Amino acid sequence: MSFQYIRTIPSPDHLKALMPLSSKTEAHRLEKVNELKAIFSGEDSRLLLIIGPCSADNETAVLEYTTRLAKVQEKVKDKLLLVPRIYTNKPRTTGDGYKGMMHQPDPNAKPNAFEGIKAIRRMHIRVLTECGMITADEMLYPTNYAFLDDVLGYVAVGARSSENQEHRLTVSGLDVPAGMKNGTSGDISVMFNAIQAGQHPHDFIYRNWEASTSGNPYTHAILRGGTDPVTGRSIPNYHFEDLEYITSLYESRNFRNPAIIVDANHANSGKRFEQQPRIISEVMHSMRYDSHIAKIVKGFMVESYLVEGSQKISADQVYGKSITDPCLGWDATEAMLYDIAEKV
Ligand code: PEP
Ligand code: MN
Repeated sequence: MSFQYIRTIPSPDHLKALMPLSSKTEAHRLEKVNELKAIFSGEDSRLLLIIGPCSADNETAVLEYTTRLAKVQEKVKDKLLLVPRIYTNKPRTTGDGYKGMMHQPDPNAKPNAFEGIKAIRRMHIRVLTECGMITADEMLYPTNYAFLDDVLGYVAVGARSSENQEHRLTVSGLDVPAGMKNGTSGDISVMFNAIQAGQHPHDFIYRNWEASTSGNPYTHAILRGGTDPVTGRSIPNYHFEDLEYITSLYESRNFRNPAIIVDANHANSGKRFEQQPRIISEVMHSMRYDSHIAKIVKGFMVESYLVEGSQKISADQVYGKSITDPCLGWDATEAMLYDIAEKV
């Protein structure tokens, strides 16, 4: 047999008993989840920003980042809801090497998922309790969601996962907004089918249970652009004509809480991270121009960290600089957030 079983991982119940949320934190989280839902239902007109590093690779740097973000949040609270992007299982595109904090709490040491699941739970809880902010993570591995289901406020399903039934069915049981990305080729039908599956009830096997879900009415779209299969070039999908077309398709599908989040990096920027403020500003212009677009676009996803750009994993890593996709640096991030708040 080619699997080598290293050690058993604690069950989600065991982990939660080891690292519980206080009742005060639980209540605060629920309040924040309801704020998020109100944005998706249209009751709250603030814009949502899911913002933070491509991968949350270092607890200290992430906490420094979210502490800064919390100060900005206080100043823009009437216009924007900032949700830190705390992605804890972000692998390289090929899946080779670093697979995120959950598998490798120290990027320079060997994988250690036993410590990793504790590290990611601790980091999410710290952001929630110390900064008061509800967090987002990507659901790379649906069964591992159970380690964080009492902590997270927003879940994204990546471009490589939204076509997968296990991800779709799991989303149908989540009680938080879940964003389905368009496929890496730019395929929009994959995303719409994923939203349909996520909004419907299902019966299926989840972990060691025969489970039944009620459907998640807050399952929505994330537009991240695509890649031309012939030239390999990025094809953005945030321009006016894209939003106009996708909005009309969306409206014809009769989903509950129709909503689009525009991912300003990835194939929308061609990973030119510094373009993210311009892309958001262009989308906001389209929103001012067309009331359907204004109604359906609920916010943006931004890759941002303390230091701009990205670096390879090494022994003398730059603190607060991405080790996966290149990110906007802090100063540009802060300026962008105030600019968005002014334009809302
Ligand atoms: C990401 O959010 O960092 C990411 C890789 O997204 P996508 O699934 O759109 O490629
Ligand atoms: Mn990324």
